[in-house]
Amino acid sequence: MGDFTNLTLIEARDALRQGDFSSRQLTQAYLDRITAIDKGIKAYLTVLSDEVLQAADEADRRLQAGEELPLLGVPLAIKDLLTIEGVRTTCASRILENFDPAYTATAVQRLLDAGAIVLGKTNMDEFAMGSSTENSAYQTTHNPWDVERVPGGTSGGSAAAVAARLAPAALGTDTGGSVRQPASFCGVTGLKPTYGRISRYGLIAFGSSLDSVGPIGHTAEDVALLFSLMAGHDPRDATSMDKTVPDMQLTETNSIKGLRVGVPKEYFIKGIQPEVESAVRAAIAELEAQGAEIVEVSLPHTQYAVPVYYIIAPAEASANLARFDGVRYGLRVESDDYIDMFKQTRGQGFGPEVKRRIMLGTYALSAGYYDAYYGQAQKVRRLIQDDFIQAFEQVDVIATPVAPTTAFRIGEHSDDPLEMYLQDIFTLPGSLAGVPGLAFPVGFDENNLPIGMQLIGPHFGEAKLFEAAHVYQQATDWHQQQPQLNISK
Ligand code: GLN
Repeated sequence: MGDFTNLTLIEARDALRQGDFSSRQLTQAYLDRITAIDKGIKAYLTVLSDEVLQAADEADRRLQAGEELPLLGVPLAIKDLLTIEGVRTTCASRILENFDPAYTATAVQRLLDAGAIVLGKTNMDEFAMGSSTENSAYQTTHNPWDVERVPGGTSGGSAAAVAARLAPAALGTDTGGSVRQPASFCGVTGLKPTYGRISRYGLIAFGSSLDSVGPIGHTAEDVALLFSLMAGHDPRDATSMDKTVPDMQLTETNSIKGLRVGVPKEYFIKGIQPEVESAVRAAIAELEAQGAEIVEVSLPHTQYAVPVYYIIAPAEASANLARFDGVRYGLRVESDDYIDMFKQTRGQGFGPEVKRRIMLGTYALSAGYYDAYYGQAQKVRRLIQDDFIQAFEQVDVIATPVAPTTAFRIGEHSDDPLEMYLQDIFTLPGSLAGVPGLAFPVGFDENNLPIGMQLIGPHFGEAKLFEAAHVYQQATDWHQQQPQLNISK
């Protein structure tokens, strides 16, 4: 049977159904691998060893009874920003060190209802602010392809867990690139869905007009399955859309003949690592070889996405994070004076990047500056969205790089927030527009680091992205490559 941890999510699910091995055996294989390897990767903040084995035994009973839920007995990893009732949820922040949520995020609940079981909670940048997972208050996650390098962020723990085969698939969240960029850096497949497609209930808020839950796996097929199970209206999230979720049928017969693929000239700029550009162009050529029609398009307001996002996201964060005051959640630093208690709690509970965002956001929202910063940013956001709407009159999907470079070294950008923010240049426009983006591996650079391509679709156009990536993955084997883990045991 070989090593169970080499299987994709769907392969593992099917093998469980056929009785090739039990959910306990599969889960134990992942737990053993986590024990052996995760000290060198540091993907997990919490491993739920006892709970997951218990859940595996329960799943085995149901499998034996012939139940056929879509994920019955399959273990998954969940970013530590999504709540699970009774499971410590930290957002990689000191301020939530001992936070025990009273309810489970809808996205997670839907996967549990489909029979999935949870291996553990994964590391991230504190409150999902960053691009490298170095902003965690607890640990830095290492890239399985080169442990001296970052896995990307902020869902770096989830992407590294999948790449290192410490989980068959995982959930991340994406506000400005946090699923797509780590997926690209770790050589796995990850989706940021359309804003409003997957409920945000139980996603601890960062930028509420941008936040989304996204699945990470090895194949477009695995990611599509998780997406279809989580998507759909949730009365508990007022921004979740009541829109039918297409039944994705990904088979060998899918075709992209006649699919119009837009290539925006603004995304192939000076400063992009040449190997990234050539791998993405080669992937576009492969789509053409598969029958797609390649069209040059323009998204003229692309250059404003970084400044617009870094006004809007911190502004929303400064409001969302006001609730962490030592009264209701997590850390409280005691003091006789309650104002001082707030100050001490927030001062000690938040890390430097979170404080920077709160200050930026508070400034952008303050009387006298609101129109010049926040109001202006909202107007330009609209222009960015209009760019996409116009482009999608000409094409079905848009192909771009995910990030300007492959994974950088740990510490390389950590003293320079602007350098770090520039990492997001190709993921922020889609986030601001609310459109879906799928990242998947299309090659390696000379240091054997993975390179990712992003396919962006119109609002609610996820199915086309999955189809195109699936056709690509049928024709190529980048997504099957595995890192040689060089970790001393
Ligand atoms: N890198 C971006 C930021 O720091 C996006 C993070 C995210 O998507 N959560 O805000």
